[in-house]
Amino acid sequence: MRRATTVLTFLATGDPTGLKFTVEYGASRALFDFGREHAPGRALFSLGLEPRPGRELDDLLAIGMAPRLEGLYRDWDGRTSVFISHLHLDHTFLVRYLDPAVPLYYPAAMEELRAACAGAGLVPWRTPAGIGIADRKTIGCGEIEVEFVAVDHDLPGATGFLIRTPDLSLAYTGDHRWHGLHPELTEGFAEAARGVDVLVQEAVSLAPRDAVAPEVAAAQVERLTEAAVIARFEELLGRARALVVANLYPMNRERVSALGRACQKSGRMLLMDPQAAVVAGWEEILGDPAAVAADPSRYCVALGFHSLPTLIDLRPPAGSIFIQSDGSPLGIWDPAWTVLLAWIQMFGLELVHLASSGHSRSEDVVRMVRTVAPGLVLPVHTRAPEALEVPGIARLVPVPLQPYTAGQLRSLRA
Ligand SMILES: [Zn+2]
Repeated sequence: MRRATTVLTFLATGDPTGLKFTVEYGASRALFDFGREHAPGRALFSLGLEPRPGRELDDLLAIGMAPRLEGLYRDWDGRTSVFISHLHLDHTFLVRYLDPAVPLYYPAAMEELRAACAGAGLVPWRTPAGIGIADRKTIGCGEIEVEFVAVDHDLPGATGFLIRTPDLSLAYTGDHRWHGLHPELTEGFAEAARGVDVLVQEAVSLAPRDAVAPEVAAAQVERLTEAAVIARFEELLGRARALVVANLYPMNRERVSALGRACQKSGRMLLMDPQAAVVAGWEEILGDPAAVAADPSRYCVALGFHSLPTLIDLRPPAGSIFIQSDGSPLGIWDPAWTVLLAWIQMFGLELVHLASSGHSRSEDVVRMVRTVAPGLVLPVHTRAPEALEVPGIARLVPVPLQPYTAGQLRSLRA
C-alpha cells in the first residue's frame, strides 16, 4: 500500500540541464518537466550524434538520457500527469515519447510558439498536444494541486508552479530571470510562493569560483539587461554603414521583433532564414542573397550557426558587423564556438556581443530565495548547487533518484 505522505524524487537534478522531478501523494504522481540534457561535446548524443531512427527512445533509455519510468511511454499508468514549464528542449525533448493517454499540461501562453515549432519539425510534440493552462489556474492530480504562476524567461510562455498536497507546499521556479522585459512576472511568482515549505530553485547562473578558466573569464561578455540589448541594437544600427549580420535566438520573439523595429527605424529590413522565421513569428524571409549583396546597407540578416555558409553568397563588404545575440553556440564551452569565430574572421566581420541571459543572475537567485523565504531550498539546474548560500534558510542539494518524504523535508528547516 502506498504511504499517504508526499514524496519528492528528482529523476535528474539538472547538472546543468535536463531537470525532472516527481511529486507523489497517495496513488497520484505529478511529473515536472521532461527534457533531455543539453551538453554539446559532453553528452553521449551531441555534436550531431543522434539516437538511431526507429529506436530513438530505446537508445535514450539505454544510456540514461530518458528516465526509466513505468506508465509514461507506452502505457499510461492511470496515475501520472505531466507538467511542462516552458518550451526549451532541456525541459520538453521527451514529450514526443509520452503515451497519448498521459495527461499533459503546459502554459497556454506557450501554445503559439509550441505549435509553430512542432509544425516546423523543430520541437516534435506528442499527439494529442495536451492542454494549455491559463496563468494562475490550478490543475488537480489526485490530491496534488498544481497552480501555474508565470515567470519571465527568454521565450514566450514560461511558468513556475505552486504545488500543494495535504501535507506539503512546494514551489518550482522554472527557468526565470529578473532582468528581462517582464520582471513583474518573476516578482509575482516570488510573492505567490512566499513561505512555502520547499522551494525548488533554478540556479543555472551559479558557478563555483574555481571553475572559470582564465580564457573563459577573458571571453566573458558584458552582462546586459534585455532592455539594454535592445537599446544597443539601435545604437549599433545607427553607426553601421555596411551589412549587419545577427546570430539571434529565434525563440526570443520579443527580441526579434525589437531588432526588427530598430532595423526599420534605421532604414533596414531584417531578414531571417525560413525555419528561424517560423520560430520567431517573423515574416520577412531571406530569399535571394544576391539582392542583399547588391545593397548591403539596407539589410540586417539573421543567420544561425547552420546558416553561416550563406555568408559566402552575402559577400559582406568591409565594415560589416556580426552581432552575437544568444544564438547557438552560446559560449566558449561549446565546441562550435571556435568554428563560429573562424567564419567571422574569414569574412573580416566586426564581432559585437549583445547578449542577455534567460536565467537569473547569481545575486537574483539569492533574491528569489530571500523573497520566497521557504522552509527549505533545493538548488537545481546548476553545476554548482552548493554555491547557493542564503543566511537563515536551510538548503538541501538533492540526490538523484532518492525519495524525500514530507517529514524528511520538514525536518531540515533552519
Ligand atoms: Zn532550462
